[in-house]
Amino acid sequence: MAKEELECSFCGRKKPETNLLIAGLDAHICDRCIEQAHGIVIEESKQNDSSDLSAELKLRKPLQIKEFLDEYIIGQDMTKKVMSVAVYNHYKRLLQPPTNDDIEIQKSNIIMVGQTGTGKTLMAKTIAKMLNVPLAIVDATVLTEAGYVGEDVESILTRLLQAADYNLEKAEKGIVFIDEIDKIARKSDNPSITRDVSGEGVQQALLKLLEGTVVNVPPKGGRKHPDQKFIEVNTENILFIAGGAFDGIERHISKRLNMQAVGYSASMSDENVDQSNLLQYIIPKDLKDFGLIPEIIGRLPVLTYMDPLDSKTLRAILTEPKNAIIKQYKKLFNMDEVEFSISDGALDFIVGKAIEYKLGARGLRSLCEEILTDAMFELPSSEDRKLNVTQAYAEEKLTKTTIKKLKAVS
Ligand code: ADP
Repeated sequence: MAKEELECSFCGRKKPETNLLIAGLDAHICDRCIEQAHGIVIEESKQNDSSDLSAELKLRKPLQIKEFLDEYIIGQDMTKKVMSVAVYNHYKRLLQPPTNDDIEIQKSNIIMVGQTGTGKTLMAKTIAKMLNVPLAIVDATVLTEAGYVGEDVESILTRLLQAADYNLEKAEKGIVFIDEIDKIARKSDNPSITRDVSGEGVQQALLKLLEGTVVNVPPKGGRKHPDQKFIEVNTENILFIAGGAFDGIERHISKRLNMQAVGYSASMSDENVDQSNLLQYIIPKDLKDFGLIPEIIGRLPVLTYMDPLDSKTLRAILTEPKNAIIKQYKKLFNMDEVEFSISDGALDFIVGKAIEYKLGARGLRSLCEEILTDAMFELPSSEDRKLNVTQAYAEEKLTKTTIKKLKAVS
C-alpha cells in the first residue's frame, strides 16, 4: 500500500515542501509554522508583561504594598506608607486606558531624605522586586552636564536599558533610583565657581527626564562607543525615586520652625518639636533652601524622610527581615551542614559596636563578617558541625584594630 504522504497539520504543506516536519501524537508541524508560532508566543508574552503589572496592582493595594515592604524593611513606617501610595498611583496612571476627560494624572516621582544607610536604596530595590520591573541605581555625583568629564544624564537610561536586558518596553515602565541627589545642590555660597558643573547644570539636565520626554540613549553608554545606534526611550512612565542625606538640612528646618513659632501661625510650640528627628518636619521649601532648584523639587512631588536607626531597629535588622544578615549566615553554614546559632548577648554586642562607632546598618554586615570569617574559613574542612557565637566569642574576634579598620572604610 502506498504510504500516505505526510503534511503539516497547520498549513497543509506536503513534506517535500518543508525543510522539516515534526511529528506529534496525531499531527505534524513544519518548520515555518513553528517559527510563526514562536513569534506569536513572544508577542503574547510581551503583552503579558504589562498585564502582569496590572494583575500585580489588582492584587496589591497600597496596604498590601506596605505589607510587602514590611517583610524586607524594618521601621520607616511613614516612608513605606507614602511610597505605597505613590507607587500605586504611578502604576495606576500608567495602566489607565486612554480617556477624554482632560484630566491628566501627573507623575508621582519621589524624593527620600535621610542619613546614609537608613534603607533608601533598599526601599527602591524592594519596590522593584515586588513589581518585577527593572531598576537602575545611579549616583548623582558622577553626572555632569554634557561636554564635561563624567557621565551625561542619559547614561541613567542606558543603565535602565541594561537592567531590562534591552527590552525597551520593560525599561519604559522601570524604576530609576538616583542616589545622592543632595550632592548636585547649587553651591551658591561658593562664589569662585563661575560655572557650576556638578550642580545646577545637572539639575537642569535632569528636569526633562523626570517629567517625561523622549531621549536618544546610547545603548552601550556614552562616549566610548561613538558609532552605536541610539535607542529612543520615553521616560513618561518611568518612576524616578531620588534619595539623599542632605547633611545639615536640619538647620534649615529648625530655622523655619523657629520662625513659625514666633509668628501667629505657630502650629508647633517648642515643646512639641522632636529635636532628635527634625527631618520629619521637612517640606519642599527646605530642599530649596538647601540648593535644589524649584523645578526639580516640583518634579519630585512626593517628599518623604527616613528615621535615623536606633539600637532597637538595628537589632531587628540583624534578624528579622526576610533576608536578614543572620539568616544569610545560617544558610551559608547550613550548606556545610554546620548548625549555626548566635546568642542574644552577641547580637546586642554587635549592635552596640555599630552604634558606638557610628557604623550604621551597613556596618552590621562588616561587623558580622569580621566575627565570622575565621569560622567560615575553618569549619567547612573541620569535624566540628556546630557554631555557637556568644558575646565572648564575638568580643574575642572583634579586636580594637579591626573596629578601627571598619570605621575607616564605612
Ligand atoms: P541608603 O540607601 O539609605 O544609604 P541602604 O538602603 O543602602 O541605605 O542600606 C544599607 C544597608 O543597611 C542595606 O544592606 C540594608 O539591607 C540595611 N538596612 C538599612 N536600613 C534598613 C531597614 N530599615 N531595614 C532593613 N535593612 C536595612
